[in-house]
Amino acid sequence: MTHSILWGEYPIGDHRILCPACGTSPRKKDMGVTILSPEHGIAHCFKCGLIASKRDQRELSEVERRAYKRRMDALRKQHDAEQRERQARAAAGASQRWLASVPALDHPYLSAKGIKPHGIRVEAGHTLLIPLRDGKGHIHSLQSIAPDGSKHFMPGGRTKGCYHAIGQASGRLLIAEGYATAATLHEQTGYAVAVAFNCGNLLPVAQMLRAKYPCLTLVLCADDDWTTEGNPGLTAASAAAHAVGGLLAVPDFSGLDRQGGDTYFNDLQRLAGRVEVME
Ligand SMILES: [Zn+2]
Repeated sequence: MTHSILWGEYPIGDHRILCPACGTSPRKKDMGVTILSPEHGIAHCFKCGLIASKRDQRELSEVERRAYKRRMDALRKQHDAEQRERQARAAAGASQRWLASVPALDHPYLSAKGIKPHGIRVEAGHTLLIPLRDGKGHIHSLQSIAPDGSKHFMPGGRTKGCYHAIGQASGRLLIAEGYATAATLHEQTGYAVAVAFNCGNLLPVAQMLRAKYPCLTLVLCADDDWTTEGNPGLTAASAAAHAVGGLLAVPDFSGLDRQGGDTYFNDLQRLAGRVEVME
């Protein structure tokens, strides 16, 4: 995919424009463009991270190269600052929504998955809220689940290293991707389970929990994305287990009528009627 920035339209200096890759509304000028000379410019999107540059055939001089690098560093710094600000706003919004909601008792999603509420809430009578907390218990974002099962995170909210804890950690602490898997594992085994929300967050959460609970045995409970190229769930879980010296648990569907969409411990529970995590 090529993203075109009309370099010639901007005079020398700094500008904010709509990102050609992720920009949606003309009001959202998420891309910073710096024109260094008629031949050279750099652009960086604070939202999607796209970096683009314009250079003609002429090589950059030493002075230009230094100016280029300085500007790139400044853009990155600005990016980090804006991201922190967005995350702080999302965290404040998350806390407000959390306080305005009520403890979940039942919900169509919970009945569909055959699981119970564990420290989650309901907003406006229909939306399940699952908090994303850091190691100190502060809420940074929320995952919302609609009655039809569709899931959303708060835009701009921090996810990395944040999790939702089910149960009291002692001896062994399980880590799973989604709430349904985690609830199933907790209800079936009695162990505490941390919800990491997606496979890319398994490692940051495992590292955080390893630092917080150095004496517990961490068990990474994989989603087995067996029909997806590269099996992202299993790959991420086994890498995280390896990195923190933890164990790896994989749902064993052998002898069961497994369909393509049966990937995680909640599916195993539905098919087998029970789930255990063995040595
Ligand atoms: Zn962008």
